[in-house]
Amino acid sequence: MELTEAQFHRYARHLILDEVGEEGQARLLAARVLVVGAGGLGSPLLLYLAAAGVGTLGIVDDDRVDLTNLQRQIAHTTARIGMEKVASARQAVAAINPEIRVETHPTRLDAANVADLVARYDLVADGSDNFATRYLLTDACFAAGKPLVAAALAPFDGQLSTFKPYLGAGHPCYRCLFREAPPPDLVPRCETAGILGAVAGVIGTLQAVEVLKELLGIGESLSGTLLMYDALGASFHRVKLPKDPDCPTCGGGAPR
Ligand SMILES: [Zn+2]
Repeated sequence: MELTEAQFHRYARHLILDEVGEEGQARLLAARVLVVGAGGLGSPLLLYLAAAGVGTLGIVDDDRVDLTNLQRQIAHTTARIGMEKVASARQAVAAINPEIRVETHPTRLDAANVADLVARYDLVADGSDNFATRYLLTDACFAAGKPLVAAALAPFDGQLSTFKPYLGAGHPCYRCLFREAPPPDLVPRCETAGILGAVAGVIGTLQAVEVLKELLGIGESLSGTLLMYDALGASFHRVKLPKDPDCPTCGGGAPR
């Protein structure tokens, strides 16, 4: 793929990096990434991936922009309250980089549509706020052999990992850590637990960095480890994640 003159300018700060260069930029422009959730994590993810020139962004969200979202969901604006989040996010992406193709999926990810959606993209970034979606993506991405960059938020901290369990030993999946989803009523969401908005920005931005690294094939993947951020303690911590040989998703046993 030949870069246009406008692209040489737009991506100049990528092109001068040995780790990206013209070849890497062309790879980003050809890439298709599915972002699940256009909320607190999805906002910085979409904005940075669009700015970086990730050529096609799929956005899944069945929600509409609400005033209470704007404290952290920076892809949306006061003027777009009431609009579908996927449509609002499309406008945000277009304002930064009109050459990005945006595919909107104003639907809730479920068992019936997850395999189809995952199949259409090279990589999935999970910015959802619920366990049902997390487990659906864990299983679907493993089955499809697609990398999953997943994050989770708490009021003052966040977690991030990349799951590539199809690579075998040393590469666990989310189910290796937590085999089954906890009951929904035990899980606090932003709506009920609250969150310091900028914490979502930190984790969503880290998630964008990891997505770009995976697409470019540079640096050290988070696969096999979990990166944890403690905002009040102003600290990061990275721990190894073991692969569970009896994992129902990625263990050696019968597939689910
Ligand atoms: Zn597993």
